[in-house]
Amino acid sequence: MRMRDRKEIPLWKGVSEQEWNDWKWQVANRITTVEKLRQVIDITDDEAASIGRSLGKLRMAITPYYASLMDPDDPKCPVRIQAVPTEHETKLAKADLHDPLHEDVDSPTPGLTHRYPDRGLLLITDQCSMYCRHCTRRRHAGETDRAYGEEQIKKCIEYVRKTPTFRDVLLSGGDPLTVDDDRLEWVISELRKIPHVDFVRLGTRMPVVCPQRITDKLCTMLRKYHPIWLNTQFNHPKEVTSETAEACAKLADAGIPLGNQTVLLKGINDCPYIIRELNQRLLKIRVNPYYIYQCDLSEGIEHFRTSVGKGIQIIEYLRGHTTGMAQPLFIVDAPGGGGKIPVGPNYVVSQSDRKVILRNYEGVLTTYTEPDDNQSHPEELYHWEEYTARQRQLSREGLIKLFEGELLSLEPAHLDRRERNK
Ligand code: SF4
Repeated sequence: MRMRDRKEIPLWKGVSEQEWNDWKWQVANRITTVEKLRQVIDITDDEAASIGRSLGKLRMAITPYYASLMDPDDPKCPVRIQAVPTEHETKLAKADLHDPLHEDVDSPTPGLTHRYPDRGLLLITDQCSMYCRHCTRRRHAGETDRAYGEEQIKKCIEYVRKTPTFRDVLLSGGDPLTVDDDRLEWVISELRKIPHVDFVRLGTRMPVVCPQRITDKLCTMLRKYHPIWLNTQFNHPKEVTSETAEACAKLADAGIPLGNQTVLLKGINDCPYIIRELNQRLLKIRVNPYYIYQCDLSEGIEHFRTSVGKGIQIIEYLRGHTTGMAQPLFIVDAPGGGGKIPVGPNYVVSQSDRKVILRNYEGVLTTYTEPDDNQSHPEELYHWEEYTARQRQLSREGLIKLFEGELLSLEPAHLDRRERNK
């Protein structure tokens, strides 16, 4: 894998250090045309034509920093595949969905998704500094390449204010850190004024694709509104650079816990060794490898999808072969808005009320003896019976419909999130 000093690239030879390290310069000078891209990497005429055909689906924009990480000669470079469009994006697969996670369906007001009882997703912009080719929210990302208007955001904040069950709000987009500090501070401060909002989370790829965005000024502003949590998306070890390490150190030093949400991507990171290397590097820069996501069923990204079995295999490999902290949860975000479902290898081989038989990562079978007094509390039993009654509604007939593709999901009657958005 060839890494270049950005000064080797003629397009940016004359750019000063000050400009390069200014996030606004990075965003203003994103690569948005094939002509500019050709000055950074080698692309064939066929590839250029393929890029052109795909641009109606999701715009191209690549920060100079992220582009400088691309191997100029290797079409399979993991950074390049994430950033450069291909004609595959124009192809619709049978399972593809416009809004696979029902973010728009579970939206009481534009820009806000309220799915889980105690939290919500607030979109404050559709702009990203780099448009990831595997983007799950590609139906909105880059639509206008701008922040959403103040009126729309005010309505979302008002909904949060009037909904006392909200404990936390995830700011996302687009990328919420493309919004300037003043606007971002206004949104965060309004949310933190709401007594029932315990904390705010940021979901951003800026530390990965434009680490220059993590300025001292931004960190000083964020630390005024603690608790603030931040999740980012590193997908390959090549993305962990000295620049990203510096950005993450600034955030961590400002008291912001950092988590990573990798997307499992064919040809990029669908390999246990790559994921192990990535997670070990992340721990060194104080980022917790929190989730690996199965790639969603969004339109035009089937070429990035791996099987669910591949993800389970990766998790199986990690267990025992590296620290537990480098082992994320593997998550399938349920199509139809069912939320995040953790999936993994099964370590419980058998279970009775006296003993549990377990297997370890080496395949060793072992037993754990249950305590003599293992009766459940009556209150707990009541909830369990209520839960199993709901499960029984998922009839055998319904399961067949799921397998045969007649249904996308099967839901118990009177599901809270359906009632809420009626
Ligand atoms: S930063 Fe997030 S929203 Fe933006 S293109 Fe990438 S995955 Fe999509």
